Amino acid sequence: MAIKLHDSLTRETRELRPAQPDGVYRFYNCGPTVYAAAHIGNFRTFVVNDLLRRLLELEFGPDKVRHVRNLTDVDDKTIRRSREEGRPLGEVTRRWTEKFHADCAALNCLPPHDEPRAADPRFIREQVNMIDVLLEKGNAYRAADGSVYFKVSSFPGYGTLSRVKERELRPGSAFTADADEKEDGSDFALWKAWKPDDGPNKWPGPRGSAEGRPGWHIECSAMSKALLGPTIDLHTGGVDLLFPHHENEIAQSQCCNGTTFAHHWYHSEHLLVDGKKMSKSLGNLYTIDDLKAKGFSPMALRYALLSGHPRKQLNFTLDSLYVGAKALQRIYNALDQACQRTGMAPDSFLEVLKPISIEELISEGYRTHFRYSWLALCDDLNTPNAIGEFFVGIHALETNNISTESIRFEVCCALSILRALGLDITASVAAKADVPADIAALAEKRWAAKAAKDFAAADTLRKELTAAGWSMLDRKDGYSLELLKK
Ligand code: AMP
Ligand code: ZN
Repeated sequence: MAIKLHDSLTRETRELRPAQPDGVYRFYNCGPTVYAAAHIGNFRTFVVNDLLRRLLELEFGPDKVRHVRNLTDVDDKTIRRSREEGRPLGEVTRRWTEKFHADCAALNCLPPHDEPRAADPRFIREQVNMIDVLLEKGNAYRAADGSVYFKVSSFPGYGTLSRVKERELRPGSAFTADADEKEDGSDFALWKAWKPDDGPNKWPGPRGSAEGRPGWHIECSAMSKALLGPTIDLHTGGVDLLFPHHENEIAQSQCCNGTTFAHHWYHSEHLLVDGKKMSKSLGNLYTIDDLKAKGFSPMALRYALLSGHPRKQLNFTLDSLYVGAKALQRIYNALDQACQRTGMAPDSFLEVLKPISIEELISEGYRTHFRYSWLALCDDLNTPNAIGEFFVGIHALETNNISTESIRFEVCCALSILRALGLDITASVAAKADVPADIAALAEKRWAAKAAKDFAAADTLRKELTAAGWSMLDRKDGYSLELLKK
């Protein structure tokens, strides 16, 4: 069962296959600019990329996937931040890189195999070498101030990815920005000559040009080539990168290397907050820390981010985090209680049972509910369908609709889907342990009152729990406790 994914270049949904004879799938995804904490919109893109990485590994095997994601650690924003703080650029970007790594780990995102930095001297050299080739081939030119620009008219294929030729050229758009030194409004910077605002951040440039720093687009072309070779299998990013960033990457790479840059392009859509674009001025820009301060776990956020189709805009609300937390707890309880029916000790299933392999999961010989969840993921990352199918399986376990002999197998299948989605339900055990003893005692009393059909007492005890900030969710064979909204 191959993974099918929409290709932004051909606008077709195509199967993913490694193109090179070594069978290694080469996957590049544009990483963060490290000048502040990434927001939850950025993390939607990184979580979707992590899902892709997981699916690729499950499909081709972990040693047959090579994942590279860059760090943009030199550009206007990082330099401005370093100058505002009066700290060296490297110190500032290191701090935000560490924060980014910590947030990725909290969201259970696998680290890429390589994470090159644009300002790493090795990769500055790679970028300069690439610009030298583009100058030699006549695809680039030096401007009067010593900057180097890419000559868009030298690449007839320009605009194929974004259909930019169909767009209107507006003054001040990304297409025409920083036009002062250019021969043509659509040309873009490969190398930016040093300006006083850049402070001490400068490197020797391509032949015949001034000291300065690389333009943003060239880093991805040069670093993906250095680490994955001139042709990659899949290149991804958020939809805002389609133009001009990815269009420019294609132009630079294909003119320099004379070969296809990426066989497949994938762009995930943006996260909106309360129906609006996220921005500091609207006060709707959240980081992982902002959500943690409100009592939400990063895993509830991962669930919420996966609940929408990655190629459709997703409207984030705080309520979606309650839904996420509740769903994770429900999954944990369903699996735990089903396992207890087979004689396993409470809270032991995650230690005893392991995810089943995908081959076994989809094998026609088995009729597990969870195979449809995997099939939905392989169908252009249809995460809402995958989650829906997953809950059909969970419901079957909850309602004891599965023979005792099959329960453990079904739980292993569920674990396999959770691994593919990167949803770590062990966090639900921690959440369980976090219930204070007096609240746990009140809940036990209420459960006993309900069992004894003393509904008046059960109601009073529920009110006490609510007043203490807890909600009790009843099921046929047990209950769970959750912190109420503040
Ligand atoms: P940046 O650090 O600005 O380069 O962005 C890192 C990644 O986040 C890029 O792939 C962007 O396309 C993506 N991104 C930026 N804003 C959003 C958003 N609101 N929703 C989803 N992805 C976003
Ligand atoms: Zn990039």
